[in-house]
Parts: sequence; C-alpha cells; structure tokens
Amino acid sequence: MIIICNKCGLQLRPKKIGVPVIFMFMDPPEPYKIRESDELECPGCGLTVLAGLPESGDEHFEPTFSASLKNAKKRGGVKVYEHPGDKGKYDR
Ligand SMILES: [Zn+2]
Repeated sequence: MIIICNKCGLQLRPKKIGVPVIFMFMDPPEPYKIRESDELECPGCGLTVLAGLPESGDEHFEPTFSASLKNAKKRGGVKVYEHPGDKGKYDR
C-alpha cells in the first residue's frame, strides 16, 4: 500500500516494521484485539502513521490472548482507543 503525505506531497517510508497495535474498547477501555502494523514516516514533516493492519489477528476471547497481550506490550505495542481524549486519560 502506498501512503502519501498530503501536506508535503511525499510518499511515506518505513520507519519500523512490526509494531503491535492494541485496540482498546469498552468503558473503561480494555484490550480487545491485537493487530500487527508497520510504522511509516513522511521524510518531509516527520508525520508517522501505523499502516498495513490485517483483518485477522489476536482476539480477546482466545485462550492465548493474555500471552499475546503481554508480548505485544513487551514489543512496544501502541494502544488505540475509540474516543478522542481516551489516550491521554488511560494510556499510562
Ligand atoms: Zn509530510
């Protein structure tokens, strides 16, 4: 997938391959699913995005989820929330 920075008119480049994304759902947010992504960066302005997430991956109801979550956190997993402001409120 090609992703373009609309501000700079440049193609984003890989910065880090293999960044776990931990989706947080519910109130208060709890880990719900985990997907692998790649971090891309704009060589112009430094904007970074997490891209390339597959449809399938680790789900909260699977018996192996707690081990997957532990591993994702160890590898620098990024938490993603449903609502603006949740990251600052819950991401500690
Ligand atoms: Zn840019």
